[in-house]
Amino acid sequence: MAQRINRQFRLRSHPQGRVKSADFDFVATPVAEPEPGQALIQVVYLSIDPTQRIWMSDREQYMPPVAIGEVMRGGAIGRVVASASERWSVGDLVRGQLGWQDFYLAIDGAPALLSRLPKDLPVPLPAMLGACGTTGITAYFGLLELGQPKPGETLVVSAAAGAVGSVVGQIAKIKGCRAVGIAGGPEKCRWLTADLCFDAAVDYKAPGWREALAAATPDSVDINFENVGGEVMAAVMARMKLGARMPLCGLISGYNVEGSAADDFTPILMKRLAIRGFIVTDFLPRWPEAGRELVGWVQDGRIKHRETIVDGLEQAPAALNRLFDGDNLGKLMVKVSEA
Ligand code: NDP
Repeated sequence: MAQRINRQFRLRSHPQGRVKSADFDFVATPVAEPEPGQALIQVVYLSIDPTQRIWMSDREQYMPPVAIGEVMRGGAIGRVVASASERWSVGDLVRGQLGWQDFYLAIDGAPALLSRLPKDLPVPLPAMLGACGTTGITAYFGLLELGQPKPGETLVVSAAAGAVGSVVGQIAKIKGCRAVGIAGGPEKCRWLTADLCFDAAVDYKAPGWREALAAATPDSVDINFENVGGEVMAAVMARMKLGARMPLCGLISGYNVEGSAADDFTPILMKRLAIRGFIVTDFLPRWPEAGRELVGWVQDGRIKHRETIVDGLEQAPAALNRLFDGDNLGKLMVKVSEA
């Protein structure tokens, strides 16, 4: 059998602004056969997430940043291609933090968040990384636990045509809410209303979008599921009711900017808003429950999903920048090898 080669993106420097290929060393090394207690996993789909931009920086964050010289961290789905472990068999599909590389060596007993996917996949494989994976689970807990949606309420979600946002709006519909999405561009807005059954979509890149937001939320806003921060967040907060809830999921508009300006907190005070930040891993023990419910909703067509799939591991840094250009519909991922 041909010698396996592992290509890895190792962080060379903390990016300034947009990510550049010079921020990484792209290194290729031969892969040894696994020793007893080890299994070799080949990455199939690599998740590309806004938070990876945070992990590359040395700003204060919710888990240790990726150290200089370390393989870039990233969630992925892979397949076991060689095993000398009792835990893993060749052919197993594995989901977890496999990193920006071709091969991940799983070592029995070492701390690693890896889980085996079922042999008979209930939904297409990419959906196990998106709508039924971490981003779907983020939508699920952020909305249901922090947002507490009730029938008849109005929900607004930003980055609505992305991985998290598209699922948030659809769960809100399942719970009987009016769902309003904010997204960049007419194509994304059409997808939200025509295919995902959002009640309204606001293109924040079009002139007059604040008026369009007001028109789309005639009864103002009960829940703002916040994904982006900045101007979009300020405009939605201005439409929130007294005592409205705001699950704070992400602030992507500031991730490429060092020392982003503080946002205006006046509406938080005046409207006594309940704002709570969360990280999806806060709910780790309950992930299986969310996964089961999301799979059910995808299977019965109540949650529709799309993926933007970029070919080739070498494209990972450029793919990450696409999130900041809004150049993705649904979940963005890199296809590293054939399933
Ligand atoms: P998406 O698939 O939503 O992609 C990001 C989208 O953000 C882009 O498509 C773009 O859409 C929009 N965007 C980018 N820059 C801006 C900007 N300056 N202003 C407004 N919109 C912008 O990514 P995810 O679904 O993976 O993540 C969405 C958010 O959720 C992120 O903030 C992320 O950090 C957060 N997150 C948080 C988690 C948690 O545990 N708290 C877990 C997972 C994600 P458009 O074309 O509409 O501009």
